[in-house]
Amino acid sequence: MRIVFLGPPGVGKGTQCRRLVADLRIPHVSTGDMLRRAIRDRTPVGRLAAERMDAGQLVSDDIVQQLVERRLDSPDCAEGWLFDGFPRTIAQAEFLDRMLASRTTPLDLVLELFGDESILVQRMLRRARVEGRTDDTPETVRARMRVYHSQTEPLVEYYARKNLLARIDAIGTRNEVFERIQESVRRARPNPD
Ligand code: ADP
Repeated sequence: MRIVFLGPPGVGKGTQCRRLVADLRIPHVSTGDMLRRAIRDRTPVGRLAAERMDAGQLVSDDIVQQLVERRLDSPDCAEGWLFDGFPRTIAQAEFLDRMLASRTTPLDLVLELFGDESILVQRMLRRARVEGRTDDTPETVRARMRVYHSQTEPLVEYYARKNLLARIDAIGTRNEVFERIQESVRRARPNPD
């Protein structure tokens, strides 16, 4: 299956994505992880991305699109994938549409995790203390929320129009949320026979 996972920062996207890819046995393509790796490895992409990420701003569409295109062409992505953190702008979504159209591999499902913003912000600030992610400071958390609303949230409407969207309430235990996700995946799955 080919799945895009949307959701604001702090909604538990990473955790649920990891469970879902294990369940479906498809690669987990997280642009946030790819960019963090590039920064760690001090690659040219990492150098371009670091400042933007630490400010809670988006990295340029060009850079992210190049990373994704290369990743999509690796053999393990032939039978499906889950995109986590991509697309994040309408321009990226249109790029993805063009890429998938040229490969005749359409998207099957877009999952959107949603939750009350004040709960999400609290979760992130807690995570900042536990994991020490450099973009989890109170200022960047607020910046990332603003960026999500202005740049990424329009994708919800974009995919709803294409009839690909399933909205998942992210408030509940991890297991409850995962069950909701599995239910949406079952409904979107093409019939095995
Ligand atoms: P979260 O969803 O928790 O904010 P991610 O790990 O998905 O975190 O992304 C962290 C940062 O990486 C973003 O704030 C942004 O700077 C950068 N980033 C990740 N994916 C993209 C993307 N598709 N386009 C632009 N920037 C991105």
